[in-house]
Amino acid sequence: MLQRRLDLLYRECEKAAKDGEIPIAALVFDEEEEVLLHNEVERRDDPLSHAEILALEEMMKRKKTRYLKDCSLLVSLEPCLMCLGAILKAGIQDLYYVLDDEKKGAFSYYHVFADDVLRIHRIKDDRHKKLMDRFFQSMREQNKEKKILSQN
Ligand SMILES: [Zn+2]
Repeated sequence: MLQRRLDLLYRECEKAAKDGEIPIAALVFDEEEEVLLHNEVERRDDPLSHAEILALEEMMKRKKTRYLKDCSLLVSLEPCLMCLGAILKAGIQDLYYVLDDEKKGAFSYYHVFADDVLRIHRIKDDRHKKLMDRFFQSMREQNKEKKILSQN
């Protein structure tokens, strides 16, 4: 995995956090093209607007195709079941992800076996765990402040 792609992915996660979104980003790429997006669950008020789905859709639009067989997907968090379904539907062959998702991850939690149709690569990048922890810490602090304000 190119360091340049990991840096782009991390920057997009930081952007997501700044926008008040959980810092998750996805990068779909092949030799010619790259699509990098972060999740928009809050902005769109849509629990289906995960980074992977948005990035796959945008790449299909750009390439004017329903299948992305020569593309790879890099995502900062292990895909959920919905996104893994979309990844398989799109025909992605290589999936790279950074953080495990022990609560909702297709592999870590649901133990989906997809190794026969998808090459799955776990990537190490310590920045994501720290960013995620900072994000949820500040969310908790904001919620605490809101509670205190509503009590007064
Ligand atoms: Zn998902």
